[in-house]
Amino acid sequence: MLMKKILSCLLCIILIFALFAANAADIPKDTEIFEDVHMGLTSNTEKQVKKIEPAPSVVDPSKPMIALTFDDGPSKHTPRILDMLERYGGRATFFTVGYLLNAHSETVLRAHNMGCEIIGHTWDHSDLTKLSDWEIKNQLVSTSNAIKNITGTEIPMYRPPYGSMNERVRRVSGELGFSTVTWSLDTKDWKTRNVQLIYLAVMQSVKAGDIIIAHDMHGTTADAMEYIIPALVKQGYQLVTVSELLTDKYGSIQAGIVYTN
Ligand SMILES: [Zn+2]
Repeated sequence: MLMKKILSCLLCIILIFALFAANAADIPKDTEIFEDVHMGLTSNTEKQVKKIEPAPSVVDPSKPMIALTFDDGPSKHTPRILDMLERYGGRATFFTVGYLLNAHSETVLRAHNMGCEIIGHTWDHSDLTKLSDWEIKNQLVSTSNAIKNITGTEIPMYRPPYGSMNERVRRVSGELGFSTVTWSLDTKDWKTRNVQLIYLAVMQSVKAGDIIIAHDMHGTTADAMEYIIPALVKQGYQLVTVSELLTDKYGSIQAGIVYTN
């Protein structure tokens, strides 16, 4: 009898230790960095879901703005970024590669319906400075048309792959009515492919009015956004599209101009 009691006690202790160990394994190693946002991500309880504010549908000019932008998609990782934007209330801009659009048309339409912007990043990620005038026009127009076929909207902007451009690219794109959008804060996510480094690249230097470049073709970027999006919202930034940010800053967006922020 006594032996049975001792055995069941031991079993209880082992179970309690096993539970603690399982919980500890869920927490990222660098708790200092992630502590603030981590709590909101591990639990999907009713209580957590109710805490989150609904996405603001209009821009509040009194609140600092950030434009999160994602290049080289759409990809299988894009929906996870949309989930986070939906959950924490925000929009982003996707600079998409033309030939990838049709395979991900549902994701593109979802993003568009959420108020995100879908803009071209050329048809096949070409370096525009190496193309003829006619080829540059073809890259921009074909991508813009493919976007319009899905969303019904075309936005006269583009982002040059590799940020590679010159006076001729600016002029030729301007003749088509396009403006060029680059960025002011580089996450270097394509290079580091590391959640903590991507998080730090943003959170250590972000300021109001930044256009942040990341790449939704990488899983690690979607992982990092699970921390970055809540952290930016917590710091009081509203996540707007590039057009919203530029219109607020300059009043209007002009063809043939290169916008960095
Ligand atoms: Zn690119």
